[in-house]
Amino acid sequence: MTGDQVSKGSDDMMIVEYEQKQVNVVPDGFNSRYLKVYYGKLFPYADIFKWMSYRNGKPYILINQSYFGRREFSFTLDNDVYLRFQSFNSVSELESSVKEKCPVKIYIGPVYSVDPAKRHAYAQSGDNVFTPLERELIFDIDMSDYDDVRYCCSGADVCLECWLLMTIAIKVIDTALRDDFGFSHILWVYSGRRGVHCCVCDGKARRLTNEQRAAIADYFRVYRGNENSQKKVSFPGLSLHPFLARSYTGVLTEFFKKLLLSQKIFSTEERYEKILDMIPNPEQSITSELRGRWKEKRQTSGSKEDINVVRWEQLKTMLQSGKPKVQGLRRCVEEIMFSLTYPRLDMQVSKHMNHLLKAPFWAHPKKGRVCVPIDPNHCEDFDPTAVPTLSTLLEQLNIGGLRAEGDASKWDRTSLGKSIRFFRPSFLQPLLKSCKEEMESSYNAKLQQSKNSFNW
Ligand SMILES: [Zn+2]
Repeated sequence: MTGDQVSKGSDDMMIVEYEQKQVNVVPDGFNSRYLKVYYGKLFPYADIFKWMSYRNGKPYILINQSYFGRREFSFTLDNDVYLRFQSFNSVSELESSVKEKCPVKIYIGPVYSVDPAKRHAYAQSGDNVFTPLERELIFDIDMSDYDDVRYCCSGADVCLECWLLMTIAIKVIDTALRDDFGFSHILWVYSGRRGVHCCVCDGKARRLTNEQRAAIADYFRVYRGNENSQKKVSFPGLSLHPFLARSYTGVLTEFFKKLLLSQKIFSTEERYEKILDMIPNPEQSITSELRGRWKEKRQTSGSKEDINVVRWEQLKTMLQSGKPKVQGLRRCVEEIMFSLTYPRLDMQVSKHMNHLLKAPFWAHPKKGRVCVPIDPNHCEDFDPTAVPTLSTLLEQLNIGGLRAEGDASKWDRTSLGKSIRFFRPSFLQPLLKSCKEEMESSYNAKLQQSKNSFNW
C-alpha cells in the first residue's frame, strides 16, 4: 500500500498499513490522518449528545425536542477556516458532520432561542429574537497565568511539579461550587495543554443570567494580578470570609509545603525578594532581618530540612509572633499564601453566556493530547503528561486488532477507556438521572395544577 492510498483511503487503511508492516509504533504528532481515525473510531459522539441533550434518548412529554438542535457548535478546520453556528438535530448528524469536516478544533456554545444555523431566516421573519438562553457555567484556569510563581516551566509548558497549582485550583473551586452554591453536576476537563476547564451543568447553573454569572465569578475573586505590585491579595477586616478560611485551612496550607519544595520559592535572592516585597513597608525591620539572615547563610548548616521550608518557617514566625499590635501582619502570612497558590480564574469566560468552550474529548493540536475529564476527588493523581494522545490511541487500536469486534466499544481497548469509564458513571449518568427527575416532577406539578383547576 502506498502513502498516497493511505491519505486518500478510508480510516481503516492507515491502521491496516501499520498492521501489515507489523509495526505498532505510530509516530507522535497531530495531523488530519490521525484525526480521521480518531473521529472515525473513538470520539464518543453518543455521550456528548446525551450530555448536551440533557436526556437519555427517550422522549419525555415535556421535553422541548429542539433543545439539542438549538445548541451552537463551532469548528476550526485544517485550513484555518472557522465555522460558527453549526447545529445538529441528532447524534448521527453531529457524527457525520465531524467525520466529514474533520475539525482541528470543536467548540460548544450556548443553547439559543432558535436554531443558530437558521438565525438569519428567523431574523427576517421578525418575530424571533436570536439570543442565548442557556449555557453551562464555565471556569477556565490557565497555567500561563501562574508564571510568576513557577520556576520549572513557563508559558504553555507544564510538568507534574507545576501541575500542583491546577490541583489546588480544582480543589478550591470544586468544593465551593458544591458546598456554597449547591451544584452537583460538575465536569472538570484537561484543556489538552496547560490548563483546566470546569463545566457546571445543573439546570439552575445553565439558566443563570450574565449578571448572576458575574456575581458567582466575583465570589471567587481574590487575586488581583498586577505586574507592578508583588502583593496581589489583600484581606482587610478582622477575619477571613468562611469560604476563604476553608480554602486556606483545607487546601492551600496542605499543598503549600509541596509547592515550596517543588518550586524552590526561597532558594535564591531573586526569588525570596519577591516574597519579602509582599510584607508591608512599615515592617522594614522584619524584612531586613530576614534578608540579613538569608544572605549570610546560604545553606542552613547542620539542618536536614530543605532551605525553602526553613526560610518560610522563619518568615512565618517573624510575622506571627512578637508584635500583636501590628494587626496586619498575621494576615500577611495568609495573603502571601493566597498570592502564590489561590486559583487564578479567567473571569471573562465565566461571566458571559455566549463564550465558546472547547469540547471535552477533543484533541489538542499541539501535542495531540486528548482533553479528558479529571476526577476532582483524585485530581492530585492526574498527570497531564500521561493523558492519551492521538498517536498512542492509534497504536493501541493497532495492537487490539482492527476487525476483532464491532465499533461500539473500540475505545475500551485503548487508554481512552479509562476516561469514558469515569465520565459515564461519575458525571453523565447522575446528570441524566436528575434531569429525568426534574422533568417528571415538573410534569406532575403541571398535572396537579390542571386537575385543581377542574375541581371548582
Ligand atoms: Zn512545570
